[in-house]
Amino acid sequence: MKLTRRQFLYEGIAVALASFGTYKYLNNTEMKKAPKKPSMIISDLHCHPSRKNKLEDILDTLSNGLTGLTYVESNEDFLTYEMLTNLPQFKEIDKGIFGSITYNGKTGYVLKSQEIEDQDSIHVMALGCKEYLSESEYRDPRKAVEEIHKRGYIAQVNHPFIINSFDWARYKLINSFTEKEYKNFIELCQMADEIEIFNGHCIDLFPWFDGLPIFNRLNMAKANKLAEFLITKLPNKKGTASSDAHNELEQVHTSGIYLPDEHLCFDAIKEYIKTKNFEVHKGPISRWSFLKGAFPWLNSTLYFRDYSI
Ligand SMILES: [Zn+2]
Repeated sequence: MKLTRRQFLYEGIAVALASFGTYKYLNNTEMKKAPKKPSMIISDLHCHPSRKNKLEDILDTLSNGLTGLTYVESNEDFLTYEMLTNLPQFKEIDKGIFGSITYNGKTGYVLKSQEIEDQDSIHVMALGCKEYLSESEYRDPRKAVEEIHKRGYIAQVNHPFIINSFDWARYKLINSFTEKEYKNFIELCQMADEIEIFNGHCIDLFPWFDGLPIFNRLNMAKANKLAEFLITKLPNKKGTASSDAHNELEQVHTSGIYLPDEHLCFDAIKEYIKTKNFEVHKGPISRWSFLKGAFPWLNSTLYFRDYSI
């Protein structure tokens, strides 16, 4: 079939409109780094940036604000605290858990953390953990919180309504609890020092769909709404926010908590969190950034690069 010039023009316009629509749909929110605030520092405590990012870009990101570098047992590509300690730009403040990164005239801070997540239950984060806990020993997240406290770390429940799905989507929204599960869940939330009530990754990929089981893997914004409600029922908890950045550096510091920026060390951070001396900043990530973070092969620059750090 031969296209006339007019048909060719119309088809070209249709393709351009469809591409523009898809682009707008996927880039649905303008992702911005949290703004600076006087005497406060944005602290994105739950982050998994990739170690395959360019070293200059890693340093540029980490020399801003405070970043929790969150290790998970199941992923070797995520950047961890240990990978930074030999860099000339790094200076240790609290041995093995907290340090600063100075680069291009800016200084930021990094905190070692771990998310215990490869299990069929709620994810728990250990902040300031000198040693990582072995996931197989802490299948019950309440046991993990107990151990985290015993060792003097901070325990946070991450995205309380999202758990592993152990399928192609990796995560799913919890729609219901049995009575026993609910009792254990509330007990866990009461034991932890804080609850993450805003997670930048809890977004809707297809907001106009719902109902079928597949959509509790694709539409997860509801998880943040449920967590907001949960926190109103828990005395002594304020609720935190984090980006839960996956691989992409652009996601780091889009959410977090503002902490006082004086005399930063692990004990000060612990004190600020325990005494609720922080302000929450919420910034969802875009659908496209979510997809790149969840499926790293979508970002070929990262996917095919050998580790840069
Ligand atoms: Zn995470």
